[in-house]
Amino acid sequence: MSTALPLFVHRTNADGTVDSFCRKCLMTIASSRWEAELERAESKHHCNPIQLQYVQEFLNQSQA
Ligand SMILES: [Zn+2]
Repeated sequence: MSTALPLFVHRTNADGTVDSFCRKCLMTIASSRWEAELERAESKHHCNPIQLQYVQEFLNQSQA
């Protein structure tokens, strides 16, 4: 068992769908009413290196 935080964060919308965000690159991976569909999209997700760089630069700026 890993004690690391889950890589994906779920947010339930007013219409009952659930958005899944990648905690690392902050991209929305999927939006669905079905947990299995979210899990399938999450299992296929690979962070975009360019997006990761944007996130890192944003974090660096906000800490300055
Ligand atoms: Zn990602």
